[in-house]
Amino acid sequence: MLGLMQQQPLLISTLIEHAAQFHGRTEVVSSRVEGDVHRSTWAEIADRARRLANALTQLGVGPGDRVGTLAWNTHRHAELYFGVSGMGAVLHTVNPRLFPEQIEYIVNHAEDQYVFFDLSFTDLIRELAPRLTGVRGFVAMTDRAHMPALDVPNLLCYEELLAAASPEYTWPVFDENTASSLCYTSGTTGNPKGVLYSHRSTVLHAWTACAADGLSLSARDSVFVAVPLFHVNAWGIPYAAALCGAKMVLPGPRLDGESLYRLMRDEGCNFSLGVPTVWLGFFDYIDRQRATLDLAELALARVVIGGSAAPRALIERFDRELGAYVIHAWGMTETSPLATIGMPLRQHAGLPEAERHALQSKQGRAIYGVGLKIVGESGESLPHDGVAFGDLKVRGPWVVERYYGADASALDADGWFATGDVATIDPDGYVQITDRSKDVIKSGGEWISSIDLENAAVGHPDVREAAVIGVAHRKWQERPLMLVVLKPGAVLDAPALHAFLAERVAKWWLPDEIIAVDALPHTATGKLQKVRLRETYRAHQLPTDTA
Ligand code: ADP
Repeated sequence: MLGLMQQQPLLISTLIEHAAQFHGRTEVVSSRVEGDVHRSTWAEIADRARRLANALTQLGVGPGDRVGTLAWNTHRHAELYFGVSGMGAVLHTVNPRLFPEQIEYIVNHAEDQYVFFDLSFTDLIRELAPRLTGVRGFVAMTDRAHMPALDVPNLLCYEELLAAASPEYTWPVFDENTASSLCYTSGTTGNPKGVLYSHRSTVLHAWTACAADGLSLSARDSVFVAVPLFHVNAWGIPYAAALCGAKMVLPGPRLDGESLYRLMRDEGCNFSLGVPTVWLGFFDYIDRQRATLDLAELALARVVIGGSAAPRALIERFDRELGAYVIHAWGMTETSPLATIGMPLRQHAGLPEAERHALQSKQGRAIYGVGLKIVGESGESLPHDGVAFGDLKVRGPWVVERYYGADASALDADGWFATGDVATIDPDGYVQITDRSKDVIKSGGEWISSIDLENAAVGHPDVREAAVIGVAHRKWQERPLMLVVLKPGAVLDAPALHAFLAERVAKWWLPDEIIAVDALPHTATGKLQKVRLRETYRAHQLPTDTA
């Protein structure tokens, strides 16, 4: 017997129309490429998304067509989120920090019909356009006065397109499993792979961001989106903010510590999200300007950190200096990305500070909709005892089934997706990522967690950032080498750092050598580029590796 309730597909257009109707006056504020701070509202975003849908229809974009973006976090990019997907086309957000060859591969692989770009990427478009043979036109996301001098086929002006289009548009109603947006993984090995989200997966995921034990985003929040709209749909925040009617603040191209600080202060942001490197820059600014800043002027109460492990030192700084609670979250492009979220349980009320920070250092618990398990080498499920570690597998309605253009499923025979991460799960369900499986250091048959070592190192007052990789060792197979970037003015005192680490990790984990470097390589999504570090130090001989 079927239920007798209404059928209404979960479509992205319903999010923006809800925001326009019930939160129409709530602001969307953007720091723009043109240099100004632009103020918009959910009603205006909806109005312009409808105009965009009309303009795209006139340009010949139809259902299922891919529309690429090379753009920062601004109101225009948010309009594309709703306009493109809402009309049934597919929004393909391209990470402009990738190498030009990767961008070329991705745009061609996705067969993007149009590419919308921010002025910052004019040179990139000039360089790539001749090789993007399937692209029918390029749209500069600006007004006529700021149009770049650029000789590419069919160069269009975003504001002109919108001005000429009608705001009257009836969003089409279609199957909620229709594709809505496309993101490629950064492909540290091999070619990038596309993850094709659906309207249904996107709306369900957005609901999770608004759940109390999700990210608890609500109409009472002013959310600062420091995670790029080209990085896994900014972790779903534009959709979630429309769903709940949160005020949304977008930093545009300005992600340096000072710009973050000022915009968050000026817009009363109480909630923010970003990768650890963004927050390192934020605290660098605070450190430099400590004497002149009144930190009480920041309203920040919750900060979501994900994308890489949040170092405990960062969690402590947010807590002690800003009174902000770090919600540590884990996920990946393939999981939309929210999969585990570090909200406390009832039993954690009143936990002493040190224990609370230890809890927050874990990557959180599975949220409803995400199934999780850790498995051993022969695929057997491992206990949730916080000790056993194994390959983390996931499944759920916003987890990938297969990559875009692939013939084969990305899942194992039982329908689980192997994340490539190694983790423990404790009896309360909190997941701790110990490493990416390819970054694990195998020393004498035991595994050393590079993430734990790195986090311990950045707890030292002289260390800004640390990376640990395994280097070949004749006796132990591999031993850890630690590379550190020091804070300005600090000098490496390796024995002192070694002693500091010895109080925090097992003795046999201690790095065999610590080297100070000027900078560490990062991927386009801000993660340490361990593959490159391993290549650089492939032939490095550790001082302990004596024949
Ligand atoms: P890429 O940067 O390669 O495109 P993603 O952005 O999808 O890929 O990154 C997903 C990976 O990032 C995860 O598999 C995991 O290794 C790492 N990651 C994400 N969040 C965390 C976290 N909170 N702690 C540790 N690692 C994390």
